[in-house]
Amino acid sequence: MREVDHFIGGAFCGAASGARISRENPATGEPLRAIARGDAADVARAVDAARRACAIWGRMPAADRSRVLLAMAAGIEARLDELARLECEDTGKPLSLARSLDIPRAAANFRFFATAILHEAGESFSTERPARAINFTLRRPLGVVGCISPWNLPLYLFTWKIAPALAAGNCVVAKPSELTPTTAAVLGEIAQAAGLPAGALNIVHGLGGEAGQAIVDHAEVCAVSFTGGTTTGRRIAARCGERLIPASLELGGKNAAIVCEDADLSIALPEIVRSSFLNQGEICLCSSRILVHRSRMKEFTERFVAAVNALTVGDPLSAETDLGALISKDHREKVLAAVERGVRDGGVVAAGGEVPRGLPARVANGAFLRPTVLLGVPQDSTCVQEETFGPVVTVHGFDRHRDAVAMANGTRYGLSASVWTRDLSRAHRMAGALDAGTVWVNCWMLRDLRVPFGGTKDSGIGREGGVHALHFFSEPTNVCIATGDQS
Ligand code: NAD
Repeated sequence: MREVDHFIGGAFCGAASGARISRENPATGEPLRAIARGDAADVARAVDAARRACAIWGRMPAADRSRVLLAMAAGIEARLDELARLECEDTGKPLSLARSLDIPRAAANFRFFATAILHEAGESFSTERPARAINFTLRRPLGVVGCISPWNLPLYLFTWKIAPALAAGNCVVAKPSELTPTTAAVLGEIAQAAGLPAGALNIVHGLGGEAGQAIVDHAEVCAVSFTGGTTTGRRIAARCGERLIPASLELGGKNAAIVCEDADLSIALPEIVRSSFLNQGEICLCSSRILVHRSRMKEFTERFVAAVNALTVGDPLSAETDLGALISKDHREKVLAAVERGVRDGGVVAAGGEVPRGLPARVANGAFLRPTVLLGVPQDSTCVQEETFGPVVTVHGFDRHRDAVAMANGTRYGLSASVWTRDLSRAHRMAGALDAGTVWVNCWMLRDLRVPFGGTKDSGIGREGGVHALHFFSEPTNVCIATGDQS
């Protein structure tokens, strides 16, 4: 696919202005796509199509919506190879990862919410005073909603919003990242083939400050679900606040992994390597600060650095590759600047910190970076405090568990944390003290789609997942039926 077009009212089209954004393959540096550069006029057409579709999709029985969404899940699975290849080209991530994680999860998102709406339990109350009545909660779709997603897990996160929004009966105007739009465009074809009514899902491409902002600004968009950076999230929250519409915000993270004195390193070590460097460290949930009990510091650091040095960085198409390219050379510059700051503040590079040498000719011009481990960086360094969103971790020692918790809580973020210990009562206590939306114990990114997902502090507002997402995308009405007799 050379040209990536909007999907509006069930049909593909370029931007009304005719403008396009060009994008190169981050692993090879070769020109890749010309993407429709949407603006307020394109968003207005998309909202109009969505508003008209509400009369059909919003009134369809849940069982019928479920059938269409299950067909979309099947459509994603049927095009797994093609979608994985496109995701790999757009992001630079290993093809094997796109095949095993990104695309299967996109299908799972549709399947999960398609079936969740068939089994949703409602609430009701039998009222006795001041008069007898039955109260129950009626949930109805909000109408036209906006869904805006980032580049790191493109189809995975795009569908994580779109699936519950559609399942709850809303019509959607969605924007993927301008850096990774291609699998979203294929989703339009899959929606068409699955029989989703025209206009129920509209996909507008373009820059955040143009197409994205126009979605948030449009008077008929009545809720916004956003995943991306904290700075953007703050701007969107302010605008939604002005407009008095709900916003769900999934933002940045600076997640700690706490390795206690009794941690089983045969489990913890490979999992912490994975949690630090999966998807080149470009996952909001990645561990970026590893806090190790002083008694295990030497052993942990030696084994960790050896394991990190053994990771293969290179061609995303090779089955041997552990880390592919970063999303762009600009992003690599930002990541390297964070490493430099860490070193300037007193840290030492124990692994990586450099562009890999000797890459095959096909990828010699790509945005690659060796996985990087820094030791001895002080807590107040911006390298420790701010999200890097790349393959960089800092390792720190601690003496008391309460010091580890204080360090883990000592940034403005609160997305997730992991605790590695054989003592589950200690893990339980620590989980209660950690200010994070998710705490994993002896595991990482073990996801159950029913659990609440989100962050505290600057990591976001609200929770996605399961019933939380379905509730965000629906309006509860309390219905009170007087049953006539006095209590
Ligand atoms: P970003 O904030 O730059 O962009 C995210 C999306 O918002 C893109 O589609 C972009 O075009 C759009 N956008 C930008 N400005 C906008 C505006 N003014 N109005 C409306 N839309 C706008 O983020 P990114 O660089 O694409 O993604 C990386 C960030 O996402 C990291 O901070 C990462 O932690 C975060 N993230 C969070 C989660 C989570 O679940 N908490 C998951 C993945 C990524």
